[in-house]
Amino acid sequence: SPEDDGIKGGLNGIDNGRLHFTGVRVPRTNLLNRYGDVAEDGSYTSPIPSPGRRFFTMLGTLVQGRVSLDGAAVAASKLALTAAITYSTQRRQFNASSELREEVLMDYQRHQRRLLPRLAATYAASFAHEELLEKFDDVFSGRNDTDEDRQDLETLAAALKPLSTWLALDTLQECREATGGQGFLIENRFASLRADLDVYVTFEGDNTVLLQLVAKRLLTDYAKEFKGVDFGVLARYAVSQAAGKTLHRSGLRRVAQTVADSGSGKKSAKALRDEDTQRELLSDRVQSRVADVAAVLRGAKGMSQEKSAALFNEHQNELIEVAHAHAELLQWEAFTRGLKKIEDPGTREVLTRLRDLFGLCLIEKDLAWFLMNGRLSSQRARTLDRYINRLLTRIRPHALDLVESFGYGPEHLRSAIASGAEQERQDEAAEYTRRRRASGDAPIDEKTLLAREARQKKAQKAAKSRTKG
Ligand SMILES: Cc1cc2nc3c(=O)[nH]c(=O)nc-3n(C[C@H](O)[C@H](O)[C@H](O)COP(=O)(O)OP(=O)(O)OC[C@H]3O[C@@H](n4cnc5c(N)ncnc54)[C@H](O)[C@@H]3O)c2cc1C
Repeated sequence: SPEDDGIKGGLNGIDNGRLHFTGVRVPRTNLLNRYGDVAEDGSYTSPIPSPGRRFFTMLGTLVQGRVSLDGAAVAASKLALTAAITYSTQRRQFNASSELREEVLMDYQRHQRRLLPRLAATYAASFAHEELLEKFDDVFSGRNDTDEDRQDLETLAAALKPLSTWLALDTLQECREATGGQGFLIENRFASLRADLDVYVTFEGDNTVLLQLVAKRLLTDYAKEFKGVDFGVLARYAVSQAAGKTLHRSGLRRVAQTVADSGSGKKSAKALRDEDTQRELLSDRVQSRVADVAAVLRGAKGMSQEKSAALFNEHQNELIEVAHAHAELLQWEAFTRGLKKIEDPGTREVLTRLRDLFGLCLIEKDLAWFLMNGRLSSQRARTLDRYINRLLTRIRPHALDLVESFGYGPEHLRSAIASGAEQERQDEAAEYTRRRRASGDAPIDEKTLLAREARQKKAQKAAKSRTKG
């Protein structure tokens, strides 16, 4: 018997429902048996002998959905930013630097803060998606199709899909608000795209659950790396991380400390702009946290199932945060690798600034962790905000080029505010005002009249007192 899901929060072009089978026996021959079959005598066979490989082959069917969702989410962020940034470079609102012309929205610092970091994150997600597609093609074409390759693909998709789908929702909402009342109109698509993409964070694997999968992989890799190392060493490793001393990976820690210790504000900003510094800070954030949790969870060995589950649960939030940080690092690395392939020096320079903006915004978002764990000095942390603002003003002149390079035409955008209509409206209004001013019959601003009146009164008062004198 079928049951309709009714109207959903979005994606209503797809009709969802449930099918119940009551008292129905499914014949053995009707099993979906591509990867495993049951013979008449009840024996199980599979064309894939390794249970691990069989499991990941089955999971592979889910991977396709996650890869597609990652791509669709990145495309939605690009569409939203193209519409919002195009509109924001045309729309003028409120006077600030001149009485004659209002400011373009995109020139307001706050507007840049709202849109440009999301543009940087979208570029990062896009570079990461390209790498995910390559990995996907490698596995599914059979070129590199070992169990390990499939597991890597599975983990990569599980890491990237949550970030890009959350980013899309956040970007659509911010673009909706950044374009004011126009942004709320369905013809500009932010509201409808947001409704349709809402469920992307849930289906094909709930984002939070996927990040736990990533966290487990990080713990497994960590355990493999330190196989044979006794618990005492691991515990000391974690302690040394907290104390800022070096035990393992001394190179990594040394760079992180340089960031914490050295010099003036100007030097601080320069160090933060450095690619290696960003890499070390972002990878340290993952590695030392994995080490911390792994050290605690090692205590679960030999515990009852109930106790070890409780111990795991006590650290679940931290594990998910680490997986999130790991996925951000993957995006940052993909962006950085992408830069190396760009031949035009000007393009590389602008995109390097955008990558810096992405990296520094990640650090700013987690500043409390970097400060609490001695990875950044408070002096250096204070320069971060200023440096991000400086980057914004440098990226601002290229904002339109950066969205135009996504290559979307009107047939993709289908958004009235991205059509140039606002520019036409602004030009028409400016021309009208210019003509009226030139003709001399433009209305005089009330503020000008009041100022004129005040000047006249002052002059009269001065004249009176002179006559008295
Ligand atoms: C429109 C739509 C279409 C769908 N289409 C399909 C389809 O075609 N095929 C198909 O197989 N499925 C489909 N699904 C199902 C979809 O995959 C599931 O809804 C999704 O995997 C989440 O599972 P759930 O709804 O059972 O949520 P739950 O697993 O109940 O999750 C609820 C909440 O609890 C949290 N949570 C769950 N477990 C944990 C945990 N261990 N630790 C911490 N937090 C946890 C989650 O993060 C989530 O926020 C569809 C769903 C929707 C809404």
